[in-house]
Amino acid sequence: MTHPLSLAQGREYLAIPGPSVIPDAVLQAMHRPAPNIYAGALIEMTATLIPDLKRIARTEHSAAIYICNGHGAWEAALANVIAPGERVLVPATGRFGIGWGEMAEGLGAEVDVIDFGKSSPMDLDRIRDALRDDNAHAIKAVLAVHVDTSSSVRNDIAGLRAVLDDVGHPALLMADCIASLGCDRFEMDAWGVDVMVTGCQKGLMVPPGISFVFFNDKAAAVRAAMPRVSRYWDWGPRGDPAEFYQYFGGTAPTQHLYGLRTALDMIHAEGIEHVWARHQRLAEAIWTACETWGQADGPLRLNIEDRAYRSHAVTALRLQPPQGTALRNWVQENLGLTLGIGLGMAAPGDPAWHGFFRLGHMGHVNGQMVLGMLGGIEAGLCALEVPHYTGGVAAAARVIAGR
Ligand SMILES: *Cc1c(COP(=O)(O)O)cnc(C)c1O
Repeated sequence: MTHPLSLAQGREYLAIPGPSVIPDAVLQAMHRPAPNIYAGALIEMTATLIPDLKRIARTEHSAAIYICNGHGAWEAALANVIAPGERVLVPATGRFGIGWGEMAEGLGAEVDVIDFGKSSPMDLDRIRDALRDDNAHAIKAVLAVHVDTSSSVRNDIAGLRAVLDDVGHPALLMADCIASLGCDRFEMDAWGVDVMVTGCQKGLMVPPGISFVFFNDKAAAVRAAMPRVSRYWDWGPRGDPAEFYQYFGGTAPTQHLYGLRTALDMIHAEGIEHVWARHQRLAEAIWTACETWGQADGPLRLNIEDRAYRSHAVTALRLQPPQGTALRNWVQENLGLTLGIGLGMAAPGDPAWHGFFRLGHMGHVNGQMVLGMLGGIEAGLCALEVPHYTGGVAAAARVIAGR
């Protein structure tokens, strides 16, 4: 047996579920002197971002840009349609669903949470019952999460629309696509989503700092009937600006916009259908490797049992604690590979916390990166003597090869 030797020098790979890997072309587009915000190229370029964002969201309706992270996008969306004392329904399938509900609570909403736990998708029948019980139509919006990044579950948003229509409930359907946009198929208009929120730092491949709220005419009418909306969060001027500064409620996030322009060019050059297919194939390779390692009662487990409900952007896993943390540390120190911590699955002080970890595979990720990540994990399982069925990487390679 040879001695351990760190192999961490070289280009590092940040395989956490956001922020994601930033393409060099995006970094280079951002590396420029401060542009004029009163006239010239920046103003013309910004106008081109909106239609290209809408193409990715698959909507013909409106989009507003905010200088904030995903939490800010939640607050922005809610501030436009939910007044204090109004009721929202939150079908939660992980930490982010809970968090969106908490954000609504902070704005004074009455929040009904249906908690589906940490490893299951939404149960549409239970949501149907809750909506049916609301004869008075007090629920003004349903706050759903498309991909919950903590559990890595992917929910059926089109199915949720069908349930709302089925019971004839007028609530707005609001979808959090912060983890999924540009990774998992999402069709805002075809799926009947009224409001969609996303951020720039996951599938859109831009450093954290800007977020987006997409809204249709039904949501705009709800906004118009609000007694009051905070000036800064108001999506009205942002979605339909008469002056350039109104896109942002103030100074533009100049360099971010250039980074976003390049990222959108990359996505459209590849084609969104291909982007989705790439994420799906890479996710299938990852699942196959993990399922192989966990065979014969090894301790490695995928958090979401059913492939139909797994995200193509992030995979949540568990080992016997503290092996999850040990594996993350090993690949970090020895291979220059950073895996994601478990989030919301156990309290940080709980020993169980050290069993959970996640793989981010969103955005600027290709076959050799995923095979490298999987090879790194297999090396770590081997080095740490974690019981596992060998052959995970070979099985993943067959998926990548399409065999
Ligand atoms: C990342 C994420 C958020 C939070 O975004 P921040 O930019 O960290 O505020 C919310 N919801 C989902 C589904 C996410 O993946």
